[in-house]
Amino acid sequence: MRPRSVSLQASHYCRMIEGLGHILFPKVCIVCRKLLEQGEEQICSGCFSQFNQFPGADAGGNALRSTILKHFGLQAVPADAWCLYPFHRNGKLHEAMHGLKYEGLFPLGSLFGRRLGELIKSSGRRVEFDAIVPLPLHSLKRIERSYNQSEKIAEGISGVLGSPVSTRCIERSSYTGSQTGLTLTARRKNMAGAFRAGRQPCRGRVLLVDDVLTTGATMVAAAGALLASGAESVAFAVVGFTEKE
Ligand SMILES: [Zn+2]
Repeated sequence: MRPRSVSLQASHYCRMIEGLGHILFPKVCIVCRKLLEQGEEQICSGCFSQFNQFPGADAGGNALRSTILKHFGLQAVPADAWCLYPFHRNGKLHEAMHGLKYEGLFPLGSLFGRRLGELIKSSGRRVEFDAIVPLPLHSLKRIERSYNQSEKIAEGISGVLGSPVSTRCIERSSYTGSQTGLTLTARRKNMAGAFRAGRQPCRGRVLLVDDVLTTGATMVAAAGALLASGAESVAFAVVGFTEKE
């Protein structure tokens, strides 16, 4: 064991270097560009408060389940669902999600993931999963973006819940392009057969993760592929939810 004074000294120097780094490379909020204060990460607390989290642990998930029921029927409704924020186009959350998805700001994914993990934990329901599965990107799209934002969110959730992330249970079988601006019928058509079983067998309780859910067509198609490849049940977790665009 190291003497107490040495470890105290080491932590003192670590804090000093961290502080110096902050002076040399000040961290700013990625939404409003304001300087971040001590304890803030990526987004300032002012911007976070404007995301308007759903009230309570179940409100977001319930809204999401009603939308899926309306569009796809009872058989498509997930066993459980959690969602942090209502999503509005051109709102502050939209800006943050754009940064996460297209501007390389992937640490935001684990930040949102940790918040989502805390929400799931606070819901009082059974929160052990056999696999946390991020919605996969087509391999070409993954190369183009260099990372999958849903995987970063899944890693954040895993850090809180302790369940493992699995990226190989299912994969995209076709390059579907963006769903933005498509009607529900077009989305469903676009998604038919979009996923298939991956290289890793799937079993038990699965938590399927994505950034934003609109009609749910993509999540429902992916959940179908997970159930077909051996999952017993599939719950949904998303950061944002919008009923229609
Ligand atoms: Zn801000």
